[in-house]
Amino acid sequence: MVNADTKLICLLGHPVEHSKSPIFQNNSLEKEGINAKYMAFDVNPENLEEAIKGLKSLGFKGGNVTIPHKEEVMKYVDEVTQEARIIGAVNTLYWKNGKLIGDNTDGRGFILSLMEDGKIDPMGKKVLVLGAGGASKAITVKLLTEGVEDIYIYDIDQNRLNSLCERLKELRDVVNIDVNINILSEKNLNEIASKVDLIVNCTPIGLNKSDPELLDDSVFNENQVVFDLIYNPSRTKLLKKASKKGAHIINGAGMLAYQGALSFEKWLNRKPNVKNMKKILERD
Ligand code: NAP
Repeated sequence: MVNADTKLICLLGHPVEHSKSPIFQNNSLEKEGINAKYMAFDVNPENLEEAIKGLKSLGFKGGNVTIPHKEEVMKYVDEVTQEARIIGAVNTLYWKNGKLIGDNTDGRGFILSLMEDGKIDPMGKKVLVLGAGGASKAITVKLLTEGVEDIYIYDIDQNRLNSLCERLKELRDVVNIDVNINILSEKNLNEIASKVDLIVNCTPIGLNKSDPELLDDSVFNENQVVFDLIYNPSRTKLLKKASKKGAHIINGAGMLAYQGALSFEKWLNRKPNVKNMKKILERD
């Protein structure tokens, strides 16, 4: 029941109508018996600063931030966590000592899903990451700090690819971790794909039936884990092909649930039931 005590939690994005977060977050709020509602707001980029001021004045409990505001919102929060600063993007807003904090739970959500759903520890592994955009930034930073041996990255946007690799090399030198960071070209993509332990798709390719193939069928084998961040469809072409060759496959539903659960914990100081969140996402 909504009453005068109901707290609000927001999702700020543009557009937002495709988002599954309101469904599994509201289900968890209800199941936990918390008098709060999670609402999605379509905020134009020119209104983001006003929207953040509104959250402060209206006493929102916190929120999530999605495309295209993840970078821009860093200007309007009071503090940014170290992890969000390193990634260069914020996906979670919460309050601490009266200050609005910007955090990023995407990378941690990915690692938790990889370990729990994929039963794979990335330490010492060879990893191919397809895509160098927002999600890839969070994931590659986390893979690096988890101690992978080699990261190979490929993106059709050469500037984005170069800038992510430069950033990762700077981070590697600061944290003094021994990891090889490699820029891939289309020419050697399939050859490397056949040699890695883990393939992660951080591109939107696979969302639509008409999307092109990302990799040749011949690259997959039973020793690999193939992780597609896409969760709708639950089995992309990439996952179907990898599964046929015996690879262990994971879709993005687990990552979405884990990153959401980590945000939930920041807003409300309690852990939600992640299994339930995943179930809701798989059912919907
Ligand atoms: P993004 O910032 O747009 O990055 C995607 C990158 O992939 C862009 O640089 C894009 O280049 C590149 N790309 C497109 N086609 C490619 C191809 N054939 N080969 C190599 N690179 C290609 O998007 P994002 O925010 O990182 O999101 C990526 C995907 O992850 C989306 O499907 C999103 O829904 C999903 N996601 C899932 C979760 C989850 O929790 N499961 C969380 C975050 C994101 P261009 O811009 O030139 O096309």
